[in-house]
Amino acid sequence: MLVTVLNKTLELNQAFTISRGTKTQSESVFVCLRHNGLVGYGEASPNARYEESPGSCMQALALMMDRLGDCPSHYRHALQSIHGVVEGQYAAKAALDMALMDYFGKTQGEPLYKLWGVDLEQAAPTCRTIPIGDPDSMAEQVKAAEQFASLKVKLGGDDDRGMISAIREVTDKPIRVDANEGWTDRDKALADIKWLADKGVELIEQPMPAGQHQDMVWLKQHSPLPLIADEAFTSLQSMAYLADGYHGVNIKLQKCGGTQAAMAAIAIARSLSLDIMMGCMVESSLGIAAAAHLSPLVDYLDLDGHFFLKRSPFDGLRFENGRVLPSDEPGLGMTPNDLILPPETDDELSKLMDRD
Ligand code: MG
Repeated sequence: MLVTVLNKTLELNQAFTISRGTKTQSESVFVCLRHNGLVGYGEASPNARYEESPGSCMQALALMMDRLGDCPSHYRHALQSIHGVVEGQYAAKAALDMALMDYFGKTQGEPLYKLWGVDLEQAAPTCRTIPIGDPDSMAEQVKAAEQFASLKVKLGGDDDRGMISAIREVTDKPIRVDANEGWTDRDKALADIKWLADKGVELIEQPMPAGQHQDMVWLKQHSPLPLIADEAFTSLQSMAYLADGYHGVNIKLQKCGGTQAAMAAIAIARSLSLDIMMGCMVESSLGIAAAAHLSPLVDYLDLDGHFFLKRSPFDGLRFENGRVLPSDEPGLGMTPNDLILPPETDDELSKLMDRD
């Protein structure tokens, strides 16, 4: 088995501003796993909010690779053997999970959604994120989101009500709001949520900082809208605790460690009667494809991270009638394009494991 990794800077097609700051580029670490003539691909999108960087991600991958075993087809054993090798670093774990699953799907000659018994017909449309911006630019942002059934508006900036009012002047589409921990006063948060409910907003994602859990417990008791945990949901163990302060959770492969952990998270969330959103980072279509294979299992979809890139280094993901759908090719169903050099010819590749 040969495993290689490549750290790549992905250029965004617009500035992406949330309550924590603005970015115009995103870093991904791609994993390529080769064995017996088949290749599995995975993507990590490390996030500083969770103490991750491309460097920490590469380090974690190197440590986990040592424990992977010799046969990637036995992915359940491989994933169990890396459990606990590294604390946190879920983006690295997600990349490894994706590469193993992509490889496994290819050994079976089937797309993962079929192997997992998932009915793509039941996939909901995804929303389109509108980053924090000047109210004057909202009409343009809404126009760019024409093909999407709903909008997810980032709040927690200087003029939250101005942004929503400007959007409501040009569309009556459902709006979801994501404050990214940007509201710190619970009384003001409740007043804003009531105002947003009158504006036809359907849910609020992470209104307050993850650390203000008792304020969230109070807010859940008073909020007219469902509250969804995103930054607060960082481990499967935290889910029961979160149920006191939120009506639902945003499960992202990059946060929970990949497709298999996401399936476990979905099962736990259902057992606690929590609503489930499946979200993403600003990441390429490879990482989004992995989520798309599972997407019909959740209630709300926010799988638009790849639409913020000038170009993704992988092809194969479909966008039809507002829905992000995987291809019918085996595994994740994605093919690297000329934006990412073929791993066997790229001098910059780090060879983490070669056991052939
Ligand atoms: Mg969020």
